[in-house]
Amino acid sequence: MIQDFKSRLEDKSPSRLRRHRHKLMVLGLSVVGTALFLQFAAAPRETTAAVQEPQLAQTVQVMAIALPQPSEAIAQELQPATAASEETVAVAPTVPEKADDAIAPVEALEEASASEETTNWVEYRIQSGDNLARIFQNQGLSAQLLHKITHSSDEAAKLARILPGQTLRFEFDKDQQLLTLEHVLSPIRKLQILANDDSFSAQDVRKDVEVRTAQANGSISDSLFIDGQTAGLSDGQIMELAGIFGWDIDFALELRQGDRFSLVYEEHYLDGKKFRNGPILAAEFINRGNSYRAIRYEDADGNASYYDPDGSSKRRAFIRTPVKFARVSSGFSNNRWHPVLQKWRSHKGVDYAAPTGTPIKSTGAGKVIFRGLKGGYGKVVIIQHGGKYTTLYAHMSRFAPKIKTGSRIKQGQIIGYVGQTGLASGPHLHYEFRVNGVHRNPLTVKLPKSLPLPKAQLAQFRQSTAPLLAKLDALAPPTVVAKVDTNK
Ligand SMILES: [Zn+2]
Repeated sequence: MIQDFKSRLEDKSPSRLRRHRHKLMVLGLSVVGTALFLQFAAAPRETTAAVQEPQLAQTVQVMAIALPQPSEAIAQELQPATAASEETVAVAPTVPEKADDAIAPVEALEEASASEETTNWVEYRIQSGDNLARIFQNQGLSAQLLHKITHSSDEAAKLARILPGQTLRFEFDKDQQLLTLEHVLSPIRKLQILANDDSFSAQDVRKDVEVRTAQANGSISDSLFIDGQTAGLSDGQIMELAGIFGWDIDFALELRQGDRFSLVYEEHYLDGKKFRNGPILAAEFINRGNSYRAIRYEDADGNASYYDPDGSSKRRAFIRTPVKFARVSSGFSNNRWHPVLQKWRSHKGVDYAAPTGTPIKSTGAGKVIFRGLKGGYGKVVIIQHGGKYTTLYAHMSRFAPKIKTGSRIKQGQIIGYVGQTGLASGPHLHYEFRVNGVHRNPLTVKLPKSLPLPKAQLAQFRQSTAPLLAKLDALAPPTVVAKVDTNK
């Protein structure tokens, strides 16, 4: 589901992103939050899958990267400059009298240019269904001009990629000639096109983001969310933290009062003001006396991921559960009464009871080696993971689109939906995990770790992570705090 959101996110425009943001937060919080808000004791084992979701950290990063809040920063950037001259600047070309209803009114901004010549800035927020030709027309600019601009260079051609929610800024001179056109892509990035008579120069302008390192620590007395907030962390950071340690700690069952966490993270500043959190760089979680540490490291291919201080990845090659919030209705056994066959037989997998239509995710990355109908399994998908492992998902109501035999699958990707095809007494997922062709209990099989960093990268890893580890050391509280009697 998260994967699905992530991939859908990547195609979304900023405004839709923002609209989805709340949904996402709710989704994310319900996924992690459900687990995290649970008090320290008995929740059914099956529900803990939620926090083991390895995509969480990634999703949070996607959210952090894709969901800056441009509006504030842009608004700030667009604060009308205090006019140096007393003259009122003409707020000119706005919407023609008979404006198309689809085009929202243009917000006009006044600005005094640094030069003596007065210019006029007009800001337009792109609506869904807009096209450049119409926007130009409404600014009193010709289609020929638009054509000239977009054909002036490869850089200028990128103007065509407008998305709802983004902003265009037009600078006009006194005679309503276009001087500058800016396509604001994010608080830190814009495409700037400068007009010089009949020629245009386009450039990708990026503001310098100042990256600072910040740190926080706290201890658990209530829940990870509440104590994380007390420590000054955002909900996103708390989810990120839970995602990073999701493989090590079962936050629903294993969190204890007195557990401690500390983290070093980035903060991003624009013009001296913080505008977003960056990623967590290093973190420690002390759970029931055991210390877990994670360090963010960008490998030689430029992929950032979290590692143990020894260079092994925090991620496992497999997630434990292919469906969320499902109840194990039948475990792995060598002998059980089959409700449909009405006889004793072994059960070489785990059944998860879940409503028809619940998404089923591949527990590991791999390749589909079977997708179709297979006897009692009904609609079934079998995935090969490397040379050693296969997983099987049966009784599906339907397959996910594009999932075919031979398809490459990412970990966490939705491959189909719960149903009761084949021999099934009710909607459930039958899940099998085989190692070298032998059925193993998916709930207890020792899941292989992902590959560690290649040896060649270890020296570089140690060198670049040493300062972060030193920071964590400094953050970690002494285990015994001497009590000082100040009354003496
Ligand atoms: Zn089964």
